[in-house]
Amino acid sequence: MYIEEIKKLKKEKNAVILAHFYQNDEIQDIADYVGDSLALSKVAASTDADIIVFCGVFFMAETAKLLSPTKKVLLPKANALCRMAAMADYDELLAYKKAHPDTVIVTYVNTRANIKALSDVIVTSSNAEKIIKNYKDKHVMYVPDKNLGLYLKDKLGYNIDVWPGFCYIHDLLTIKDVENKRTEFPNAKLLVHPEAPLEVLKKADFVGSTKQILDYATNDPFEEFIIGTDKGIIHALEKANPNKKFHLLSRGLNCINMKRITLEDLYISLRDEVHEIEVDEEVRKKAIIALDRMMELS
Ligand code: SF4
Repeated sequence: MYIEEIKKLKKEKNAVILAHFYQNDEIQDIADYVGDSLALSKVAASTDADIIVFCGVFFMAETAKLLSPTKKVLLPKANALCRMAAMADYDELLAYKKAHPDTVIVTYVNTRANIKALSDVIVTSSNAEKIIKNYKDKHVMYVPDKNLGLYLKDKLGYNIDVWPGFCYIHDLLTIKDVENKRTEFPNAKLLVHPEAPLEVLKKADFVGSTKQILDYATNDPFEEFIIGTDKGIIHALEKANPNKKFHLLSRGLNCINMKRITLEDLYISLRDEVHEIEVDEEVRKKAIIALDRMMELS
């Protein structure tokens, strides 16, 4: 029932539904666009829909609002929050900036708008490496994901400090997980998201964002893969590659907040236009400078 009603409402209200790869399968199936943070940001910035329904977590819907301030942006579940985003504290970052005025603040998209407003540039896991290369000779503070920051520091050899934040599902991955799955599936390649600890990333055959993992598995001649990111991506991997096999690196790869939105939530949110995202205009003006810089450099 919800599927038909959502489709009808979407047409009547000129709405677009965006869903992250980590969403529940049925949400991905009804979305107009399924993607990672970078792709969905680009859609949000360019859409001519009047309403953007963002099926993801709060910072994603908030980023869509930053990029499309005149649109109505809805997050179907108000308590879908990213735990990593909560690890970047505004007062702490402000104090750090004052103490280190020459440091470039490179901030992961997985942050609140007020953190973006303190930043020089925003990055996603798809474009972080490319963008950070523009700051080769600078001292960089990478906020808030220590794992992605340490991965880039190790790979590029740049002067990068990292904020002590992390994604709780990726940070739990261990060398033991890798050994167990390599033994269980000896013919599979291991593809891991850069939010995992460095020692796990060093054991991977490929390190990349969710979209990069999807593209890699689709284009690679191998037929079996161990996936080191949230289980939601398995749906897109299997749809794109019905003859290939995918195994999760760990059962813990399941972000609860990314799975909060149901079809019923989506229907009610669109029907009643509830859980609208609002952003303070002064914060938005500052945050958009860092987001625009990302768009230019990515
Ligand atoms: S998977 Fe990790 S980074 Fe993504 S929303 Fe969940 S807690 Fe945040």
